[in-house]
Amino acid sequence: MNQFTQPVLLSGKPAAPGIGIGQARILKSETTGVSPETIGPESITENLKKYEKASSFLLQEYEMLKSSTGDRDAKDILDAQIQILQDPELEKTIRRQIKQERYSMEYAVFNTFNDYIRLFQSSSVRWANDRVIDVVSIRDELIDAAREKKKVIRVKPNEIVFAEDISPAVMVKISRTEIAGIVIERGGLTSHVVILSQSLGIPCVINARWNRYELKKGASVIIDGIAGQVILNPTADQKETYRQRKGDEVLRFKKALDWVLSPNETRCGSSFTLRANVEFLEELPKVNEYMAEGIGLLRTETILFESENFDVVKQMKFYSTLLEQTGDHPVTIRLFDAGGDKLLEDSVRESNPFLGWRGVRMLLDKKDLLRKQLEAVYRVSALFPGRIRILIPMVSRTEEIERVREVCDEVQRNLKKQSLQPDGKIPLGIMIEVPSAVLVADQAAALCDFFSIGTNDLTQYTFAVDRGNERVSELFDSFHPAIWKLIKMTKEAADRAEIPLTICGEMASRPEAAACFVGLGITDLSMNSASIPKVKSVLCRHTLAEMQKLAADVTATGEIQEIHKLLTKWRF
Ligand code: PEP
Ligand code: MG
Repeated sequence: MNQFTQPVLLSGKPAAPGIGIGQARILKSETTGVSPETIGPESITENLKKYEKASSFLLQEYEMLKSSTGDRDAKDILDAQIQILQDPELEKTIRRQIKQERYSMEYAVFNTFNDYIRLFQSSSVRWANDRVIDVVSIRDELIDAAREKKKVIRVKPNEIVFAEDISPAVMVKISRTEIAGIVIERGGLTSHVVILSQSLGIPCVINARWNRYELKKGASVIIDGIAGQVILNPTADQKETYRQRKGDEVLRFKKALDWVLSPNETRCGSSFTLRANVEFLEELPKVNEYMAEGIGLLRTETILFESENFDVVKQMKFYSTLLEQTGDHPVTIRLFDAGGDKLLEDSVRESNPFLGWRGVRMLLDKKDLLRKQLEAVYRVSALFPGRIRILIPMVSRTEEIERVREVCDEVQRNLKKQSLQPDGKIPLGIMIEVPSAVLVADQAAALCDFFSIGTNDLTQYTFAVDRGNERVSELFDSFHPAIWKLIKMTKEAADRAEIPLTICGEMASRPEAAACFVGLGITDLSMNSASIPKVKSVLCRHTLAEMQKLAADVTATGEIQEIHKLLTKWRF
């Protein structure tokens, strides 16, 4: 382990925004050990009772935590924990192992949960990996309850919590104290600790290898949840700089919130539209709070991974809830964009997954999956006519559009045969995220109803830079002249064909880029809902002419440094 006296900069992934300055608090993960133990027939009833008692104790504990938090996400996540705890299959297996295998209660719990944990761990799906800590924590909490062992977790205000991972129950407990941040060694962006940090406004950085350092309790730390950085043992100057940044940030965000209720208009009265990118139902409160005009990008991959055999009825429920809770606004449902780094259980390992069986390529090979998703969408459309748009991911050739449209027509015909009335006018659009799609945008525009630019993948594929590879992250710059040129070309093609164009990649959430898009005439932007206030405040405070001048200057120069210089003044 590295000792250090100088400041150490740890780079991780930004998971929840904000700056925290405080003292380190290390939460050690203690793995519960249980040795295989069998019992005599006379102890079966006693062990069954022990299990029931531990299970109802834990249930009470989760219910108490639920009532102690006002946060909706936290309540939902605890509900999910309760569901696992009361899962009938798990309960049946534990009881059977006590009765038939004659395992002690602790060993039956340990053994049964471990089978589930192994399943999640071995999954190639990131979402499943992110749930491992949830199941491990229930296992350990059940065993602790049986052993009447109480783990007390105390954190103090202003502490920055360092952990390998954090279970939902522990997260709710520690969030009652005003902690200054959370640094996680592992974690994924869909883990519950991340969802809760975002929802509770606690800065969070994941994938930060803090364990390599001899970090002592109380050590001075800075966390920057926007940049994904952690400074251990910062200098007085660094602390001062971050203190100022934190103050500025809080002030700016508060001011930005003042704009949320204003009309979506530039200073000179020109209108624009801001929508939300959504993946989970839990995001809906923020979508409405920040007055997003519907959902510009609904990522559906997670729901595909969440439960095996994600059937039509379950999908319909998901889409209906989103439509019900977004007023009269449109909801753009992107068809499953699996592949790349979002692998399905039956995906083959590819040496270049981002260049492989991803998005529409996979959907056209797995027609049943595509049919099922379209069936769910078209069935729901009967209840919400005029509200849905369908978006095809990762289109690289125009034939793909025609082939998806054929399946759309087939699905509609089948539903009509069943006397259902799907919305026959659902616009079918494509993601513009592969450079070839830009180069054939005129032909593509003739085959579809709208374009949506995915600047994340467009940058990845234009520069041949893996968007998740830290070693080449310096080369991943969406503000490069090459990307502006592709965006402009797409806009021109959309205008020639008179079809709408949206931007839904990360770039839209950067106020300086958003201003430039509006200057280019691209006024329909979709972003993570947390970014809406800051983007809106910048757009509302400037005139269209100012943004047009910015766009003209940015697209005229071939110099990346010049672009960054021009945009600096427009940063939030
Ligand atoms: C994009 O590529 O910019 C995009 C919005 O899609 P995703 O990030 O889901 O690939
Ligand atoms: Mg993409």
